[in-house]
Amino acid sequence: MSLRSTLTLALLALLCGCYHSEQVDLVVHNATIHTMDETGTTTQAMAVRDGRIVEMGPEREIMNRYQAENTVDAAKLHVYPGFIDGHCHFLGYGLNLQKLDLIGTKSWDEVLERLQRFAEAHPDREWLIGRGWDQNDWSTKDLPDNVRLNALFPDRPVLLQRVDGHAAVVNQAAMDRVGLDPDADIEGGLLERKDGRPTGLLLDNAVTVFQGIFDQADEATKRQALLDAQSDCLAAGLTMVCDAGLDTNTIDLIERMHAEGVLKIRVYAMVTDAPANLARYARTGPLLTDRLFVRSIKVYGDGALGSRGALLKEPYTDQPGHLGLQLASEAHFRDVAAWCREHGFQMNTHCIGDSANALLLSVYGDALAGATDLRWRIEHAQVVDPPDLGHFAEHGIIPSVQPTHATSDGPWAEERLGPERIAHAYAFETLRRQLGLIALGTDFPVEPIEPLGTFRSAVFRQDADGRPVDGYMPEEALSPGDALRGMTIWNAVATFTEEDLGTLEPGKWADFVILDHDLEQVDATALARTRVKDTYIAGEAVR
Ligand SMILES: [Zn+2]
Repeated sequence: MSLRSTLTLALLALLCGCYHSEQVDLVVHNATIHTMDETGTTTQAMAVRDGRIVEMGPEREIMNRYQAENTVDAAKLHVYPGFIDGHCHFLGYGLNLQKLDLIGTKSWDEVLERLQRFAEAHPDREWLIGRGWDQNDWSTKDLPDNVRLNALFPDRPVLLQRVDGHAAVVNQAAMDRVGLDPDADIEGGLLERKDGRPTGLLLDNAVTVFQGIFDQADEATKRQALLDAQSDCLAAGLTMVCDAGLDTNTIDLIERMHAEGVLKIRVYAMVTDAPANLARYARTGPLLTDRLFVRSIKVYGDGALGSRGALLKEPYTDQPGHLGLQLASEAHFRDVAAWCREHGFQMNTHCIGDSANALLLSVYGDALAGATDLRWRIEHAQVVDPPDLGHFAEHGIIPSVQPTHATSDGPWAEERLGPERIAHAYAFETLRRQLGLIALGTDFPVEPIEPLGTFRSAVFRQDADGRPVDGYMPEEALSPGDALRGMTIWNAVATFTEEDLGTLEPGKWADFVILDHDLEQVDATALARTRVKDTYIAGEAVR
């Protein structure tokens, strides 16, 4: 070999070295990357090191500049920021997988059939616990009572929660077991009676009496529940979940499982409003790691519309004289608000009815006292009276809504609310306009876990069966771009994580999903065929 060709080779090697000078962990290329950044950039490739995006750009530029341990050819598929569920019950979902599933039952008879089979399959269980019935799906839409439960199970306690967790039916053995006085008055709750006899039907705070039994789980059970929930979330394209109500024990367990590396999904844990929980975080302040964000308190304003527990300004259209339930006193809401201001926590309150929304918006406004970026949240914001809307923008309060509730509740919501109020229900586009953003979630397990279902209900205002054909109140649909922002960057804003999450940009965590369709272009039919191909958290394939 001549000296000249040796030199040429050396020069080439040097140049190639330059081309691939930078070593990274992951390069994703040949993709359509929807960065969801402010200008809506789309690009082809990105490089990831130590879990964060180093650079994004055209195919050749990134391929020439970076050498990666792991190179992923995305085959022109669509890459989006990892989806964030803005309001769900992550642990509850996992625990439910171990309970009797009553979702989709078409009658009370079917509930009882499933219960009997479950009882036979689990002879060792002391309590028979189920969840998911919805009398709106039955041919007779009456709420159930416990006459037949008592006959079938005279000694074994039975607790069956409605799909929204705001109502339940229990048998006499269950009431005896917890020592529930049938004549007791429960503040913010109702123990139904017929002809003086308790029927076993419980609403809101009466359900809470049994919540400890419903939730009881030792640490091994909870661990399994969190792992089961995680695998379904990752398969659905979720890289972060906002659990709307956890106790310190579970939050500590999640922190340990993150540290062990078995739990990968990021968790924004809203702390359940209970004295012991508040006392703990009063000492420590917010708890923030790379994957766990504990900086909000979950408060319950009222019940749910389905069980007529939502607090309305005027009586229910289908139950004269009934206004629903306020789950705590106004003084309590003001105390929690003051606590949140003092300790640097967001206050996130469940408000469904127009009266609950009005009350909490005004409590928030007083406590925030001019502060406009503390990002307190109204969870659900289902029925908001137009005169109350101004509070959202004025105080920077974020509406956190669940589009699938609109398409699930649509068939019966007007019966509860009447023709006038219904116009101000599930008004997501109206809510989005207030502050210029809206946080989207599913409330799973109340609704299915899929973020693509959120997108469908938000954009097409249709349920999974394509109903209603013209969309439910289509004037309140979100644009595809806004629905995507609601599932990504706006949820990051709502959790104070937008510096690290929510878009694909250099410096942020490489949390992303690969889909086989372009969500900004799909119609409802193509959306139904859209699949999540891969899910990545911090540059790691986790699906
Ligand atoms: Zn919820």
